[in-house]
Amino acid sequence: MKRDEEILKKTTVTTSVFASEEMLKSAPVDTIPQHSTTPEIAYQMVKDETYAQTLPRLNLATFVTTYMDPYATKLMNDAIAINYIDETEYPRIALMCAKCINIVANLWNSPEQAKWKAGALGIGSSEACMLGGVAAWQRWKNRRIAQKKPYDKPNFVISSAYQVVWEKFAQLWQIEMRTIPLTPEKLTMCPEDVIAHCDENTICVVPIQGVTWTGLNDDVKAINDALDKYNQKTGYDIPIHVDAASGGFILPFLEPEREWDFRLKWVLSISTSGHKYGLVYPGLGWVVWKDKKYLPNEMSFSVNYLGADITQVGLNFSRPAAQILGQYYQFIRLGFDGYKAIQHSSMEIAKYLHQQIGKMKPFVNYSNEVHNPLFIWEMNKEYGKKAKWTLYDLQDKLKQNGWMVPAYTMPANIEETIVMRIVVRQGFSRDMADQLLTDIAAAVNELDKLQYPTPSRIALESKVKIKGTVYTHTGKG
Ligand SMILES: *Cc1c(COP(=O)(O)O)cnc(C)c1O
Repeated sequence: MKRDEEILKKTTVTTSVFASEEMLKSAPVDTIPQHSTTPEIAYQMVKDETYAQTLPRLNLATFVTTYMDPYATKLMNDAIAINYIDETEYPRIALMCAKCINIVANLWNSPEQAKWKAGALGIGSSEACMLGGVAAWQRWKNRRIAQKKPYDKPNFVISSAYQVVWEKFAQLWQIEMRTIPLTPEKLTMCPEDVIAHCDENTICVVPIQGVTWTGLNDDVKAINDALDKYNQKTGYDIPIHVDAASGGFILPFLEPEREWDFRLKWVLSISTSGHKYGLVYPGLGWVVWKDKKYLPNEMSFSVNYLGADITQVGLNFSRPAAQILGQYYQFIRLGFDGYKAIQHSSMEIAKYLHQQIGKMKPFVNYSNEVHNPLFIWEMNKEYGKKAKWTLYDLQDKLKQNGWMVPAYTMPANIEETIVMRIVVRQGFSRDMADQLLTDIAAAVNELDKLQYPTPSRIALESKVKIKGTVYTHTGKG
């Protein structure tokens, strides 16, 4: 034993990685190791802890980019050491960022005449949503102060199918979140409900394009028109911030005639994720205001040492610059037509899967429509009455084939409904879709042979009994 220890202590650069002392010990959890080790050993340890749990290409749960071409990857790797905020060192990157904001703003039909549009980059939609929300709050507050009215009870209105960032926004800035529940009849937020939730303290309404839970779009035009009437009647100025995390890079290409963006009067800001359908590796988000005047001075500062006046806004200071290079590369490389073709392919495959899954006996689609390359389905009610399994069991079965297809329960009010979701991204082909369908059919076939209910089935039945409803969602909550 003593001799073994001595051998191990002599770990040098010539020691094989798996003959080293480190490989016989647990990796550090609480304290930094006392001694250095070789880069090969450190690399191997970290690498081994970061094996993908599922193959990224077979992960149909995430919205985030898992494929970029080798040139984009090289550009981003080359820029890995660049801090975006070092504008004096890398002034061209700030300019490149401003160009990206211009391009995004124009995709959303910005009416702003200024050479540089008012906008900001973020780590993702989360930061972009926060900035849009804070701006709305600050504008409302400034107006209330001017009117000598209290400004201590701000609220905003959003569908109950909000992404968690809005809960953070409400909590961190202490702004009341008023949610509009989905019902089996109302699959998205409807304008009458929006108005019913508004009052003088409403800082903004937040429709979503590409609702995370369902893939559907809130009807921004209808909400805008209802708000317009309401604002006229009341004298309020309640604006709209569109959370277009997914839809922001889908609608301009696939449904250019659909009015959801700055063409609408009350849409004053829009956010999106560059790392979702913007086709860039994480983390990148964008937020754009309709005009500089909607971006409160309190939130922005101008820099003029770049040969231009560039507005700067953000929650972060230092952040990686590589994603900006990635985004600008994609704009140049793909162009409008390239983006359109890629989004079209994702959409076609999503629609194909939607149609095929809708045809399978155990399933029923949540909606007949697909407006973004993602959709959800639930178990057919009749089928569900005798099934010994739930969609959670199907999720587990598919995992055995490497697929990550998440099952989850819907938000408040229809939370007894279990659904399954597929997000189609660049990198998912028709052939892979066919493989997935084959695997789903085989898994269902096996699950149907079960004699006894699965644990998730038993749990579901006891929950449903407590609620007093059997396999149906009444929408009454
Ligand atoms: C993904 C998503 C977010 C959060 O975006 P990140 O880019 O992950 O920060 C916000 N809203 C919606 C609707 C989303 O789908």
